[in-house]
Amino acid sequence: MGSQVHTHVYDPSCPKRPKAQVQAVLVRAERHCEEQNLRLTPIRRRVLEELGRERQPMSAYLLADRLSQGRTVAPVAVYRALEFLVSAGLARRIASKSAYVICEHGPASGTALLLICKGCGVVDEMLCEGLDRVLNRATAQVDFATHRPLIELEGECASCTSRYGAPDCVS
Ligand SMILES: [Zn+2]
Repeated sequence: MGSQVHTHVYDPSCPKRPKAQVQAVLVRAERHCEEQNLRLTPIRRRVLEELGRERQPMSAYLLADRLSQGRTVAPVAVYRALEFLVSAGLARRIASKSAYVICEHGPASGTALLLICKGCGVVDEMLCEGLDRVLNRATAQVDFATHRPLIELEGECASCTSRYGAPDCVS
């Protein structure tokens, strides 16, 4: 396809994102919300932070569970926060799993491929510019405007393929 591919190199033995990366996600989100006049309320921020810790998609219920320490956080509140994060371009909803991941490439990114590993459950996001052009050409023929297109691909990640992936990891 001759496309320019951007993807991440991460430590496949650790499904958790390092703290510094989670912090970077939050800083980027704060800046984006400020620029766009969006409110990153405490619950929205907490949901984004929790989501950012994992490389595996999380459901609203799981997130509500994680956030309910000391004080119960209702799943409906988490849903609303997730809806905001998705519309703000800070998170992505994985339709096939009814679960969410952070948007790794930021709100301005084009067509994203979500690589969903059936072995370890890790989701990696990659951008594919060549694919952008192909999709735009195809959808333009029927006057269809896509918004933040997302393609879910199921398969096996490199570490599961080579069997060196150790899913247990201390965060
Ligand atoms: Zn895997």
